Amino acid sequence: MTDTLLSVANLSVEFATGGVTARAVDGVSFDVERGETVCVVGESGSGKTVTCEAITRLTDGDVAGDVRFEGTDLLAVPEKRLREYRGSRIAYVFQNPQNTLDPVYTVGEQLAESIAEHADSEIDQRAYAVDLLDRVDIPDPAVRADNYPHEFSGGMKQRIAIARALAGDPDLLVVDEPTTALDVTLESQILNLLADIQHERDTAVLFVTHDMGVVAEIADRVVVMYGGKVMERGPVGEVFTDPAHPYTRALLGSLPDGDSLPEPIRGTPPNPTDHASGCRFHPRCDHVVDACRSGDHPPHFELEDDREVACVHYETEGRPTTALDESGGEDI
Ligand code: SF4
Repeated sequence: MTDTLLSVANLSVEFATGGVTARAVDGVSFDVERGETVCVVGESGSGKTVTCEAITRLTDGDVAGDVRFEGTDLLAVPEKRLREYRGSRIAYVFQNPQNTLDPVYTVGEQLAESIAEHADSEIDQRAYAVDLLDRVDIPDPAVRADNYPHEFSGGMKQRIAIARALAGDPDLLVVDEPTTALDVTLESQILNLLADIQHERDTAVLFVTHDMGVVAEIADRVVVMYGGKVMERGPVGEVFTDPAHPYTRALLGSLPDGDSLPEPIRGTPPNPTDHASGCRFHPRCDHVVDACRSGDHPPHFELEDDREVACVHYETEGRPTTALDESGGEDI
């Protein structure tokens, strides 16, 4: 039985910039179940970060669609009530902890501030701050609570950012590229830490990344985004063993492989101010046919195993990968 925590339906975010409209997110839909990890993956500019920010209206853009957290429409609730969700029920860990930790306060003071905002007012804030540092494996937490951010390494700062996100004991952690600036050892430590937290508290994680290797390691389900749209979504095992969308295949092909050199995806992602017709991926797709270049972006077709894909080749009956492989496209 599913236990849907977050349901995002037809989410769109637009920014008015220099007399033109940039559509950063366009009709995005996905669910997050309690306790699971959903990875949103795509190249820079695919709209994955803006999608996650829009869930609790953290973006400056115009947000439309339907975002339900345990049934409550987060796009409709007044700002004051939304604050009850931010931090307490839905907490964010951003890419660069440098930008979120204040250099003039100790980490203990900053954690205490988050605790005061989100936790029980009777709680001993200092003791809880030390406990949070301990939970994210900061050595000597009682001593280190009195240190300033510059006295910690990059990996430790990211742990402290995670500790702060845990202050309100959230049901959903939204984690945006937390390991991008870290080496592989620290990356692995952070991913293990998130997995431990998740298992301890049945916390759901919505994880933003451009790295399919990270997706393979941590995801239960994956949402592949390109040009502000969802190209494919489904359980990670099925998507990795039998990627349905040409863009998913291209992302997987760009991964390092022991036997062959990775193949970069040719071309560049689309500009969000360019509202060209047809499939957003068509200028870079090896399987493009005439139908890809005109009309609306392809609708989502449901596949087996709770998967969906947006590609014209799936309009026809038959096994999706066979349909795609046989069609070949014009450029192959
Ligand atoms: S719709 Fe056409 S261009 Fe888009 S992914 Fe499918 S084959 Fe490629």
